[in-house]
Amino acid sequence: MSSGRTASSMNTSSATFLQSAPDLASCPEDSLPEFAFTGRSNVGKSSLLNLLADKRNLAKVSATPGHTKHINLFNINGTWRLVDLPGYGYAQVERKERGRFSTAVAEYLANRPNLELVFALVDASLPPQDLDLQFLEGLVDHEILFVLVFTKIDRVSPAKIQENMEAFKTRLSEICVQLPEILTCSSVTRQGRHALLALIESLLTPEQKRRRVQKGTPRKTPW
Ligand code: GDP
Repeated sequence: MSSGRTASSMNTSSATFLQSAPDLASCPEDSLPEFAFTGRSNVGKSSLLNLLADKRNLAKVSATPGHTKHINLFNINGTWRLVDLPGYGYAQVERKERGRFSTAVAEYLANRPNLELVFALVDASLPPQDLDLQFLEGLVDHEILFVLVFTKIDRVSPAKIQENMEAFKTRLSEICVQLPEILTCSSVTRQGRHALLALIESLLTPEQKRRRVQKGTPRKTPW
């Protein structure tokens, strides 16, 4: 899906690790706009974050024990933050643990005032997965602005990507009225990097900035 935006020339070379927060209350002050990345474990999130920041090991900190289930925040150019949310659907984590961490993520998503946009990652090589759709339904229910990012597009044929995308759109149309913008990327070929950064850049520009539909009304029961 074309957005009509021009490719970004944004330089992200000053990406630095800011903080690893176990819950919303531990997150830093909310002065800078935040862009959160989320998806099932193994969807290619760390690789994409490294690609966006143009740093081989930026997301390494997120992968270290003790940090994988935290909300990891990175400063980009001192003007915005990239937020690495714990992956969902990680089978090895005990159910109780999973619940606790997903509560932290849910609270962050539902109540973080400076969250501008969620990048929801799905694997381009797979047909729609129930777990992804459940997560997206939560975003829709809470009126949290998100875009879909199909990852690992180098691994499948364009026809297969299209087929999976159409199937995903059909399932999505059952849970939301207006379909989100859809982007594609590959950390191997670096495709999609400029489009994602251009989208972020456009939301940093005051006159183009879209706000989340609903703000400032904390929900007691995130999904
Ligand atoms: P995460 O668990 O979501 O952070 O996923 P990772 O970034 O660690 O990637 C999971 C696996 O998928 C690793 O083996 C990566 O090398 C691989 N991977 C990630 N992105 C891509 C991609 O764009 N193309 C291909 N072919 N493999 C990828």
